[in-house]
Formats: sequence, C-alpha cells, structure tokens
Amino acid sequence: MIITLRKGAKQKEIMVVTEKVKGLGYRPHISKGEDITIIGMIGDSAEKYKEVFEAMDVVEHVNEIQKPYKLASREFKRENTVVKVSRNVDIGGKKIHVMAGPCAIESRDLMNDTGKIVKEAGGTILRGGAFKPRSSPYAFQGLGEEGLKYMEEAGEKLHMPTISEAMTVEQVELLSKYCDIIQIGARNMQNYDLLKAAGRQKKPVLLKRGMAATVKELLLSAEYILSQGNYDVILCERGIRTFEDSTRFTMDLNAVPVLKKFSHLPVVLDPSHGIGIREHVGTMAKACIAVGADGIIIEVHPRPEEALSDGPQSLMPEQFRRLMEDLDLVAKAVGRELLD
Ligand code: PEP
Ligand code: MN
Repeated sequence: MIITLRKGAKQKEIMVVTEKVKGLGYRPHISKGEDITIIGMIGDSAEKYKEVFEAMDVVEHVNEIQKPYKLASREFKRENTVVKVSRNVDIGGKKIHVMAGPCAIESRDLMNDTGKIVKEAGGTILRGGAFKPRSSPYAFQGLGEEGLKYMEEAGEKLHMPTISEAMTVEQVELLSKYCDIIQIGARNMQNYDLLKAAGRQKKPVLLKRGMAATVKELLLSAEYILSQGNYDVILCERGIRTFEDSTRFTMDLNAVPVLKKFSHLPVVLDPSHGIGIREHVGTMAKACIAVGADGIIIEVHPRPEEALSDGPQSLMPEQFRRLMEDLDLVAKAVGRELLD
C-alpha cells in the first residue's frame, strides 16, 4: 500500500505516519521527492488499514497496489512519467528521442564523427559503451574511463546528452560523472546490487530487459532503482531469447503495450540488438515507433566493417539518415514528433 502525504509535510508529521506503520507491524519505505513524500507500507494485506491512514490529516491519499512492483506500477501513478535528461531532452513526452552511436567507444575520432552524423540526422542522444559485456573474454572489452572522456567531449561539443552502460557498482559512480543516462544492460538486469547503486545516484537510468526475463521481472528490477529514490527510470525492450535462430534475438513488441498498461515509466526500444541484422534494423525501428516507443536506441558506425563490437548490426551513416526521415513519418502517423 502506498501512502502519499500532503505537499510540504513536515518531518514530524512524516514520523507520526511511519511510527503508525511500524506499530501495525509493517515496514515503512519513505521516498522523498522535491515536495511530496510517499510512504510505502511493506508487508502482507496492508490494505486492511487503508482507512486508518486516510483518516490522518497529513495523508493526501492511500493507494492499494495489487502488483508486486509498487512504485513502478500504473496503480501508483496514473500519468506517464517524463524523464528529464537535459535542458531540452525529455523522454516520455510527445517527442520521440533517438539515441544513436557506436556499440563501443573505440576512439576520440569515432565519437566526434559519429556524434556529428547522429546529430545532423536528428538524433538527440549519443550512445557508446565504455565497459562492454562481451560474450567472449577475448573480444574488445571497451576503453573504460578514457572512452568516457571521449564521449563526454563529443557530447559537449555537439550539445548532446550521452548514454553508456555500467556493469559494476563502481562503474555506476564513474559513469554518473561523465554521462547523462546510465544504461543497465540485459545481462545485468537482475544484478540487484547494481540496480540499487543506480537508484542511489541521480542520473536517469535506462534499464534493459534481460534476454530471459519476463515483463514482470523487468518491472521488479525497475522497482529496485525506484525504491532507492531515483524515479528517473526508462524501460528498454531489446529482444528476448526464443527458439527462433534466424535473428539474433526476438524483438518482443508485445511488451510495449503491456508495459504501458502496467507502468507509468517511459519505454525505449532497441531494434539493433533486437534483430541483430543491419538490413532489417530500419524495418524494426519503424515498427518500434508504430507500437508506441517513447524513444529508440540504435547502433550507427561510420565504418561498420571495422567496428570492434556489433558491426553486423550497426547502420551506415546514409542508412541512418534515410531511416530518420522514415521514422519521422511513422511518428507523425501515430501522433508523435521526432524531427524538429
Ligand atoms: C549494448 O547496448 O551495446 C548492449 C550490450 O546491449 P544489451 O545489454 O541489450 O545486450
Ligand atoms: Mn551492442
């Protein structure tokens, strides 16, 4: 059960409510926003005390939440969450944002060149991995902090926010200094210490669905981040593992309407990893927009044949430019905006 307190509730009043929660044998979970404090009442059948809290003066309203994820649920918050990434980039509003760039940050020049291509085509967020979760330990593992510096530099020059993946708690801290969005990759969706660390810092988090995770598990992972006080969570569908082996993964477009129904959080889709084949990334990107994505994340490389990671699914610059125009048409058809 979620108890929302009146705007500007005083510390003393918050204490009274939390003591009441404890007194009834439940665990209070306090989340303080800028001016609203929310107290989660954790434990079985908390709903039976709904009226007790509704009767308290400091309480604005009390919500019963049936779902195992609470703060992530649509029951908890009816309106869509809009995640503010930077002064002019909001994810979850009318505008669909395209995050694009190489799979891995390979050099300073690559980030500057790709950033320019992405920006000129209408992309609004620059992506690039500094710590890469590669299937093989012999594959390129990323440039680490040096790479983050290259991306930060390119982002500043082009006035573009940036996104990069953290695989460990220490990397979360490092990334929060260099990037505007912290990505938690598919392979780490259920790394709970990592989720908690991402929740303890303030930068928005893009949480990718694990390749063998259900929608419910994705939302429970989002709940870990939210429960630490970071409400800027963006969900990301990037394809799941099925028996199908003609594509890299199976893009679960079904997840979009379902996630939107169950949660207020914005949803971004990743057609590059979803299908894994350059020739088909554009087709799937259009489908992503049509199905209701709030943004997409796409791999682009000026010379994919030389890419150190995910070359076969990276778009060439010209393909990306043409795709952006097509995506704009699809966005308009579904009542959204993409290009300015
Ligand atoms: C990536 O974005 O390059 C990546 C590794 O993504 P995922 O975690 O979805 O595989
Ligand atoms: Mn990749």
